[in-house]
Amino acid sequence: MQRLDGKTVIVTGGGGGIGAATCRRLAREGAKVAVLDMNLDAAHKVVADICADGGQAVAFACDITDRAQVDAAVAATEAQLGPVAVLVNNAGWDVFKPFVKTVPEEWNKLIAINLTGALHMLHAVLPGMAERKYGRIVNVASDAARGGSSGEAVYSACKGGLVALSKTLAREHARQGITVNVVCPGPTDTALLAGVAEGARDPAKLIEAFRSAIPLGRLGQGDDLANAIAFFGSDDAAFVTGQVLSVSGG
Ligand code: NAD
Repeated sequence: MQRLDGKTVIVTGGGGGIGAATCRRLAREGAKVAVLDMNLDAAHKVVADICADGGQAVAFACDITDRAQVDAAVAATEAQLGPVAVLVNNAGWDVFKPFVKTVPEEWNKLIAINLTGALHMLHAVLPGMAERKYGRIVNVASDAARGGSSGEAVYSACKGGLVALSKTLAREHARQGITVNVVCPGPTDTALLAGVAEGARDPAKLIEAFRSAIPLGRLGQGDDLANAIAFFGSDDAAFVTGQVLSVSGG
């Protein structure tokens, strides 16, 4: 018996670095995984890996900023894989520039993906979880929400909002058997980090500065985050809710 045997799980941004590692990990724990991503090719690759490994997964194209696409993807997941037991709100996006140089179009896009997208997903799955009296929500924020991060002001604000939202939903839904917890990555070796570095004068220097500031001396890997997400998504964390865990090398 594995920790997530037969449970239906949705991972947003499941085609990306942390999301793909999480999908693979949850599938190895016995979950039926819905890999949601606006990049359907990336989601298909993850599904192919999981199926080749003997797991069960389906890819769905979904832009989480669009509520109609979210509702359609959740309905398709439930039709094909069963009621959603675990939601991992992982899709995200970042730009790296001083706050005073950011423009409203960038704020709006950051807020739409990092905050409104999570709201859409939560709104779509929480009523069913409440009815079934069971749910595990894991929201992926960022250490930038906890300590701030120069060059990531609006992103930090979105992730800080996600942390506050999670703590409130943990209280609001506790008596319905739903837990809500947050994982905060530090700099993690994915396409998002490479994209952030492109905003700097010297991308390699910025990545090295991130790495050398990490007490454990290396960038995070997707599997580091997947380990923590799998814990919060499982019944090993049944008595843990409203918590925020940094997975950032110290
Ligand atoms: P990534 O770029 O590798 O993957 C992100 C995935 O999300 C991509 O597959 C992308 O297609 C998808 N996505 C983006 N916008 C979407 C949308 N509107 N709808 C659906 N899918 C969308 O990034 P990652 O590093 O794996 O990031 C995962 C999460 O971790 C994000 O929430 C990010 O903010 C957070 N995070 C990452 C780091 C880091 O250093 N990599 C640090 C802190 C927090």
